[in-house]
Amino acid sequence: DSTITEYDTIAAISTPPGEGAISIVRLSGESALETAQKVFKGKDLSQVPSHTINYGHIIDPDSQQVVDEVMVSVMRKPKTYTREDLVEINCHGGIVATNRVLQLVLGAGARMAEPGEFTKRAFLNGRIDLTQAESVMDLIRAKTDRAMQVAVDQLDGDLHHLITALRQEILEVLAQVEVNIDYPEYDTDEMTTRLLKEKAALVLGRIDELLATARSGKVLRDGLATAIVGRPNVGKSSLLNHMLREEKAIVTDVPGTTRDVLEEYVNVQGVPLKLVDTAGIRDTEDKVEKIGVQRSREAITKADLVLLVLDTSTPLTAEDLGLIQATAAKKRIVILNKQDLPDALTATALPDVPAEEVIATSMRTQQGMDALADKIVHLFMQGIDNSQSQVMVTNARQIGLLQQAKTSLQSVLAGIEAGMPIDLVQIDMTAAWDKLGEITGDAAPDELITQLFSQFCLGK
Ligand code: GDP
Ligand code: ZN
Repeated sequence: DSTITEYDTIAAISTPPGEGAISIVRLSGESALETAQKVFKGKDLSQVPSHTINYGHIIDPDSQQVVDEVMVSVMRKPKTYTREDLVEINCHGGIVATNRVLQLVLGAGARMAEPGEFTKRAFLNGRIDLTQAESVMDLIRAKTDRAMQVAVDQLDGDLHHLITALRQEILEVLAQVEVNIDYPEYDTDEMTTRLLKEKAALVLGRIDELLATARSGKVLRDGLATAIVGRPNVGKSSLLNHMLREEKAIVTDVPGTTRDVLEEYVNVQGVPLKLVDTAGIRDTEDKVEKIGVQRSREAITKADLVLLVLDTSTPLTAEDLGLIQATAAKKRIVILNKQDLPDALTATALPDVPAEEVIATSMRTQQGMDALADKIVHLFMQGIDNSQSQVMVTNARQIGLLQQAKTSLQSVLAGIEAGMPIDLVQIDMTAAWDKLGEITGDAAPDELITQLFSQFCLGK
């Protein structure tokens, strides 16, 4: 393939930091095999078939000392992750030995890879488009199976194919406009205008469909910000602990997040909840009085979903009523807890709370806990088709560009309506084409690409 560009050979540790059974030092580039060979004692890597794994030892070429016992994968271009020659050294010797192997490889002539550089090369060499590169990042960060599936679909290129098809539609009509401008004597204005209008409306419709998936997509990607609120002693901590224990707690290591801001995630049947202000709930034991309504209000503001806990064994208090009011405009589930105790209030006594928002539970007997999970999933998976083929946008960059393309297409339609000359309408149509191209990277400016790939972690 003549479009493949040769780059220098890069190397990095591609497995996460920390202790593991194996770790991988990855090399990519023109002299990847040659560089690995300089520190490898075993078969002649230049002679082994492609896509084989080869046993041997990493040695310090100066002292001839054995550093680690390894398996070396050799993958020749073009069928590799980067579309370059790729070598992966599977080390067995823990962190120290792995770092040592990397040092030796760098000493043998490889350059330390920048964050995301392997994926960047896959992009630059035309193996993947920008939406696919972004989904690699999403895969790395995916918090639940469902979020993972969206990323995998995108990696397959679903979004890429859709956007490319839309651009093709626009291109056809732009070509028609060109003919019209170049050969005015044919006087095809009316036909061209009709075509412009048709195509603009068609593409606009598809963009609207895509944008409609954005909210659910974002939830899958970033987690649904969820606040557990209620006055002291109603069962908030019990609920939190249940979720962290029963529903799967998700451990995240998102690059760029500071460690002191503790974010707790739970996976409720595939919906990742990002629990807001759990510190406030944990504190309750000590400083019951202080927390109160003020802190709850802050948590409510930040939340996409509020779980409002009430204690059915005691009559409603002014504080309960205040919280019911404060959460009225939110996506909300009102949890009537302590059903195992004698009932001091009934659902019918709740002012202005629709019955479908209410659920009865007991943290003690676990009554209603599965129904609660179902309700959460139902609230937020509405509109998400479970079939795996649905294309979804999950990414702020993509959403922003779709919105810009949409605005341009709306100008096309408005321009036609106002009887503007075709060559002016054409400018907006071309802008839409450009914006869609930026999504896939076919028209992305260089800085954007650089910025995008720098968000990756090292070794990816
Ligand atoms: P928080 O102050 O809202 O976080 O409430 P906690 O979760 O700390 O619970 C306060 C007290 O109520 C604790 O003694 C819990 O064991 C108890 N509790 C919580 N949920 C239930 C329940 O469903 N039934 C009963 N009987 N007690 C509960
Ligand atoms: Zn459960």
